[in-house]
Amino acid sequence: MEGFPKADFPTHTIPTPVTPGLGCPPMSERVFNFSAGPAVMPVSVLEQIRDEMLCLPGAGASILEISHRSAPFEAIIAAAEANLRSLLGISDDYTVLFLQGGSRLQFSMVPMNLLPAGGSCDYILTGSWGKNALSEAKKIGKANVAFTSAESNFNRLPAASELKLDPNAAFVHYTNNETIEGVQFQVEPATGNVPLVCDASSDFLYRKLDVTKYGLIYACAQKNAGPAGVTVVIIRKDLLTRGAETLPGYLSYATHAKEKSMWNTPPTFAVYVLKLVTEWVQKEFGTLDKLHAHNQAKCKLLYEVLDAHPKFYQGHAAPECRSLMNVTFRLPSDELTTKFVSEAKKQSLTELKGHRSVGGIRASIYNAMPIAGVEALRKFMLDFAKANS
Ligand SMILES: *Cc1c(COP(=O)(O)O)cnc(C)c1O
Repeated sequence: MEGFPKADFPTHTIPTPVTPGLGCPPMSERVFNFSAGPAVMPVSVLEQIRDEMLCLPGAGASILEISHRSAPFEAIIAAAEANLRSLLGISDDYTVLFLQGGSRLQFSMVPMNLLPAGGSCDYILTGSWGKNALSEAKKIGKANVAFTSAESNFNRLPAASELKLDPNAAFVHYTNNETIEGVQFQVEPATGNVPLVCDASSDFLYRKLDVTKYGLIYACAQKNAGPAGVTVVIIRKDLLTRGAETLPGYLSYATHAKEKSMWNTPPTFAVYVLKLVTEWVQKEFGTLDKLHAHNQAKCKLLYEVLDAHPKFYQGHAAPECRSLMNVTFRLPSDELTTKFVSEAKKQSLTELKGHRSVGGIRASIYNAMPIAGVEALRKFMLDFAKANS
């Protein structure tokens, strides 16, 4: 090998993992994080990610380093799908996809795939996200507003009689939980034979659904089901082929269904974490019915405080439309709101500032928020009202 400088490679040794947690902030600094998304994750899931980070069992390398076509990843994505199917009771009539681009891309993909040329679709607007979805749909074709509560700043849901649904619409789109306003459907709107499309981004897996009522359900993972980077799409198989053949490959549900979400490299790490979160739900709660009861108990702790102090804490959502996931309310003044946020932070209760369009406070209490966090916030709210009324 004349001419080549002699390489001076160090002897190859496999580094021993450092002591878990060494050099990391102590766990005592971990807060109760009420962020709307990306949001709180189960600690046991974070621990498992940490423990498996250098060497995923059976892979000989990190989840970040292995091919999406390797047997360990094939097993992970299959398990993620199987867990979702069993938790939600998804039948073989539906395909489960793991996509990228967040729910925002679904705002476009839904009409691109489901709205035929010359057809129209209906949007039920109960908050900011539905409005965003509608404005993307309008770029694709004719999209009608079947209901809007904009005039009351999206604080309520439609009564069945208020829905102006077109029986010939290609689909009806609605947002089950409006993350910003804290308004949530507990029962799906009835749309007859028109396929119901649901943005379930901020309440995916919060309860058991009757999936057969839906044509398509989509949810980015970073609110209630995992990290940012993966979006789950559950689509009835007969809807897969509605998109035009000329759709760009990535934008066609048919492409992803045919290639089992492997047409391009899926977000491997995010799918892995989603699988761990679904396992956590199974281990911790067993069924989504149990988790639903847990979520009902959690939000009740906070809504009771609003109801007990209606002058001090004014809930944004009409009581019968309240979200189990995002509890939104205002205080008597901006000064008190700022004080609430800063004093809560001193007690390790963080990310409580509401979205600017609603103001006030928003406490996001997704599946992974432990009841201890909600109890701590409840106590803080009671003390704060007493001290500042
Ligand atoms: C967060 C959110 C979105 C947007 O999700 P991205 O992944 O950021 O595109 C859409 N809809 C709802 C209901 C949300 O909560």
